[in-house]
Amino acid sequence: MITRYFPHEYEDDVFTIDYDALYRIGIRGLIFDIDNTLVPHGKGSSEKVDALFGRLKAMGFTTLLLSNNGTQRIENFNANIGSLYIADAGKPATEGFNKALSMLAMDKEQTVVIGDQVFTDICGANRCGIANILVKYINHEKIEWKGWKRYLEWIVLRIYLCSNKHKHRLYRKTI
Ligand SMILES: [Mg+2]
Repeated sequence: MITRYFPHEYEDDVFTIDYDALYRIGIRGLIFDIDNTLVPHGKGSSEKVDALFGRLKAMGFTTLLLSNNGTQRIENFNANIGSLYIADAGKPATEGFNKALSMLAMDKEQTVVIGDQVFTDICGANRCGIANILVKYINHEKIEWKGWKRYLEWIVLRIYLCSNKHKHRLYRKTI
């Protein structure tokens, strides 16, 4: 079913997410993808991202970085952030997501997955029953043609955006 690729919310980027609203509905754990979600693929963290994680911690959230990338890459990114993390997560397989819940010591109802890919981040979260937010991927090189996977993603998103039943299922329920 195509609905397994539908996110609960769709945002421009990680900075436009309404974290206050997430906290109000009981979310305490934020599971982030890194590449093209927080920073361009393979890049280190930025001051803006470091500040975001500082703010989230102060708000009472616990964060976990869930990445299909390797340990060294994540440790470099995480140097100033100090978040929990899982490398080589194998998304969209469910194992990494379930491990994330156990590391956070939280139920799935208390957590949200935030990522840029419907076929890994969103699909995996949906398989585990974890609410999720898709963000527009960071296209720092402004590439027009981004491969077949992004094209399929574009088709899924067009269908998703026409489905009022599936949009705004998390914190924008009233819109
Ligand atoms: Mg990504």
